Amino acid sequence: MDQLNRHSWDQRQQELKLQLDLIADHAGLGPALLALAENQRQTGFIRDSLDHVERFVLPNPTSRRHYFSVQFNPARARRFAGAGLSLAPEGVESINQGCFLCAENIWWQQQGAELGYELPLGELPYTAWMNPFPLAPDHCIVAAQAHIPQSWNGNGKRLLTIIADLLKLSAELPGWIAFYNGEGAGASILGHLHYHLLPRPPGYGHMPLELAIQRHDVDGIVEDVYPLSFMHWHGAVGELVEPLAPAIIDWQTKIGEPEHATANIIAITAEDSSRQDCFFIPRHKARSRAEGLAGVVGGFETLGEIVCSSEEDHKRLQAGDITYQTIADMLRQVSVAL
Ligand SMILES: [Zn+2]
Repeated sequence: MDQLNRHSWDQRQQELKLQLDLIADHAGLGPALLALAENQRQTGFIRDSLDHVERFVLPNPTSRRHYFSVQFNPARARRFAGAGLSLAPEGVESINQGCFLCAENIWWQQQGAELGYELPLGELPYTAWMNPFPLAPDHCIVAAQAHIPQSWNGNGKRLLTIIADLLKLSAELPGWIAFYNGEGAGASILGHLHYHLLPRPPGYGHMPLELAIQRHDVDGIVEDVYPLSFMHWHGAVGELVEPLAPAIIDWQTKIGEPEHATANIIAITAEDSSRQDCFFIPRHKARSRAEGLAGVVGGFETLGEIVCSSEEDHKRLQAGDITYQTIADMLRQVSVAL
């Protein structure tokens, strides 16, 4: 690699952007992000091939179509340690306590290996970065370019902007799953606004949360069909903000302690762009974990796949000690009534 400096990194970012813009113009944002992923495997930033991931599908004993799944992903345990350097080189200032999502830190923390893609959409400017500890192949993080907090801090208007940008991203990505984890709902970087994007992984059908709404495809509050209470809306791609805004504002004004309120928000655009779905799962900041398997319940978990990384959990899975009911009970523990 070239000698590490900010200027050469900026130059490589610009060169990559030209290539990715070309792909995005011709084939769409999805293929451009897949090309970013390929670049990041080549630079060595993505080191986890997901070879060690094992997936356990746990069918509902009384209804065959329904299931939960557990992903044993040992590399995810390393994500809290962060990746890369923690001490800035001489003459360089680490900003925002070394935030992993600020470009001003990323170039030296990852020694030039991590490159992002500036996205031309959303209310705010964003950059797409790859996740070094993916939940699935090509797991991408879209971060605001500014260091602004993940939480909406009780501000309903801010929450609507977060949802609107998530939906905009999702609209550009048919066949992908996009989600936002609030503070205390799976987010591990609280200082810097970010979203998760992943192409539906090979071999995955509809996720359990998606299956839950298939029986009654109505919009609004959905209770008693899934261990978590949630709100759901569906419609033509790019047209969901208007119908969901009043419900979100209503929820925001009625909740008892808005400072403790958080959420997982999921947006999914169908592969053929025939529809877009949005799920809003209210959470409580003090209930980020559930007993049953080690780990935090974030957006992917609320969709119905629990991610665990300890050898102890792995043994329990192999022994068949974890069942559909175990996962249903876990999710129920973090559910918040609407
Ligand atoms: Zn930051």
